[in-house]
Amino acid sequence: MESYNSFKVAQQQILEAARILNLDKATIELLSQPQREFNFTLHVRMDDGKIKIFQGYRIQYNFARGPAKGGIRFHPDETVDTIRALGCWMTWKTAVVDLPLGGGKGGVCCDPKSMSERELENLSREYIRAIAPLIGTDKDIPAPDVYTNPQTMSWMMDEYETIMNRHQPGVITDKPQQIGGTEGRRDATARGGVITVREACKVHGFDPTKTFAIQGFGNAGQRAALLHREILNGGKLVAVSDSKGAIYNPDGFNPKDLVTYKLKTGSVLGFPGSKAIPHDALLELDVEILYPAALENTITSKNAQNIKARVICELANGPTTPEADIILNKKGIHVIPDILASAGGVTVSYFEMVQDNYSYFWSEELVHQRLDEKLTKAYHTVSEAVREKNVHPRLGAMVVGVARVAEACKLRGWV
Ligand code: GLU
Repeated sequence: MESYNSFKVAQQQILEAARILNLDKATIELLSQPQREFNFTLHVRMDDGKIKIFQGYRIQYNFARGPAKGGIRFHPDETVDTIRALGCWMTWKTAVVDLPLGGGKGGVCCDPKSMSERELENLSREYIRAIAPLIGTDKDIPAPDVYTNPQTMSWMMDEYETIMNRHQPGVITDKPQQIGGTEGRRDATARGGVITVREACKVHGFDPTKTFAIQGFGNAGQRAALLHREILNGGKLVAVSDSKGAIYNPDGFNPKDLVTYKLKTGSVLGFPGSKAIPHDALLELDVEILYPAALENTITSKNAQNIKARVICELANGPTTPEADIILNKKGIHVIPDILASAGGVTVSYFEMVQDNYSYFWSEELVHQRLDEKLTKAYHTVSEAVREKNVHPRLGAMVVGVARVAEACKLRGWV
């Protein structure tokens, strides 16, 4: 039976890495559970004057390498287990790119698309009122995730600073630049992913100037559409999708026009010259590179068999189920796993924290250059682990991340 509980999947991945690394029982137990988790109710004044209750979470998965770090997601399907899984993956993600940070994640079960700007602001501020004592530049630093953005971060930082009565921009990342944000954060997740594709093409001889498809057209998907061609000197975007549907054009889309259209109409559907196709058909197209950039459990045992892409660059967290992973490996598809491919965002978040700390800001070129160095190094460190341990890329990345966290736990005398 295929498992769709993301936290069970995450725990299974830890066991596989632990087996390769010969970790002892106490270390496995410690790494398989969040160090701290907080569940709370939020009471928010809605536009009709009534109070609505929402369920909120903040999970600080592991602190061994530094303060917890990870986004806050506003989504109707949020559960404690999805947040646990996402916090767990953040722990390995920050370790794979060697940042002095732990992992965490937060969320609110809500439908942001049906809420007004004012309701979202009330919810964001209420969320921070609930977690203010738990977060801080040296404890836990949130950021955006699905359906949250720099505006959400601005309200949250402002609420935190009001409660603490001090200026503290580094408490949250991916803020607008006018209030302590950094150059290069908005496209960082996509840029990091495209850099890993560049390295994969160099090592394995894939051709990035051929075709590519993007599943999910939120921030990461849109930026990948624009950056793929810029960084890889070519490539034809033949299909994209969002929560409303998927579209295809064998002659290729102009990424800029597509982003403008999506921002104007709220969906990619109906883009001039496109043909609507089913969601799964996008995943199964014969393309050189496929970017899953939406949610968990998109590539499953149902569609993996039909996937024809040569490279899968996972910009989303947890898009591939373990059963699908086995199928993709057997087919020889090169998967650049989420904890590596999507690590660009948190890397530039870390750069933002550093700049906030000394209140002096870097140029865009410097941010890009340092991001490139981190992701290129991480790609090759993972490749080395894949070769040395003779494992598939996801396990290789897990081995690198888990080994670093386990070592920090040991040095601290926790295990
Ligand atoms: N939500 C993003 C992720 O999943 C960014 C996290 C961060 O910057 O802290 O990687």
